[in-house]
Amino acid sequence: MQTAEPYGGFEQGPIRPPSESGSLLIRVTRNCPWNRCTFCGLYKGEGFSQRPVAHVFRDIDTVRRFVDLLVPVPGTAADDAVGRLPAPGCLDQNEQMALSAARNWLLAGGRSVFLQDSNSLIIKPDHLVAILRHLKATFPRIQRITSYARSQTIARISDRDLARMAAAGLNRIHIGLESGCDRILTRIKKGADRETHVLAGCKVKQAGMELSEYYMPGLGGRELSREHALESAEALNRINPDFIRLRTLAVPDTIELAGDVASGAFEKMGDRAVSEELLLFLQSLAGITSRVKSDHILNLFAEVDGILPDDQGRMAAVVERFLAMDPEEQVLYQIGRRTGIFTRLADCRDPGLRRRAQGFVEQWMVTPENVDRICDTLMQRFI
Ligand code: SF4
Repeated sequence: MQTAEPYGGFEQGPIRPPSESGSLLIRVTRNCPWNRCTFCGLYKGEGFSQRPVAHVFRDIDTVRRFVDLLVPVPGTAADDAVGRLPAPGCLDQNEQMALSAARNWLLAGGRSVFLQDSNSLIIKPDHLVAILRHLKATFPRIQRITSYARSQTIARISDRDLARMAAAGLNRIHIGLESGCDRILTRIKKGADRETHVLAGCKVKQAGMELSEYYMPGLGGRELSREHALESAEALNRINPDFIRLRTLAVPDTIELAGDVASGAFEKMGDRAVSEELLLFLQSLAGITSRVKSDHILNLFAEVDGILPDDQGRMAAVVERFLAMDPEEQVLYQIGRRTGIFTRLADCRDPGLRRRAQGFVEQWMVTPENVDRICDTLMQRFI
């Protein structure tokens, strides 16, 4: 584990899945080794690199040191823990970050870890297993260790190595399926086709890890909306992931897809059309026992949440209720949701929340004709 790169201190990457908000973030790699998806601008212009394993170990050890300082020693007052902490001026920026990570992690229960950045499984299996073992040895109470991974990468890892990773503590993988339609996957430069997604998903499950697959409503545009819903559901029906997570397409100016929108090559759909697509997708999931989660702020319906097959009708009914609203009521809900005032359709009936949302509708002169353009602007705040 000798390395020429000097240790620059504790690091954290820019993102984690919404469901990992309480996890300790341990950065194993920097940025994305693929970095070509047309809908993703997260790492554009940033080079990919693997962090030396010894540096990851040092990050873990640094967090351990702060956890020990933060946790009261049995038999002493809780305030004593504060007294043991270094004065803020004695810590450099990276140590401050590590202290804050340790504190937030403890407040969230200190049981789960997320390995950053976008595809930790790309490093050598031996290295990943060593990191996982060090994590478990350093924090024996950890119950969950998770990571993002690309299907293309997983498809190349042997079943034996995946099983070793699982045995070392890696027990949940988040994969960006985005779509199960090959025409869309090619257009968005995902670098994986449907069969690769299915193979990778099945390999993860076979290794005994939990699997989250992300579906991106709207990614097919108007032209391929129906194929997107049907073929994505078909792929997920073959995988039967533990979680199907929704993350609706948004198109900030900075991503490659924005150029396709500007040229007319991609026709972005508004909330109503995306809702029709989502309804078709939900109704096409069959023979699986996944939990559907709508835990991303970009989604129009936070309440599409349930376990298949029992909750399928209830989840579809949420979308159907929106589609059955008259256009002015849909506008009110869209604006209420996109401004963070509403979280569920029933919020439209809350007089106080309704008044606030109506205030924005009037202030911005929102109509059924311009609502999608205004919502697109509002959604940029969440990217
Ligand atoms: S693989 Fe993930 S992080 Fe990398 S460009 Fe695609 S969506 Fe972005």
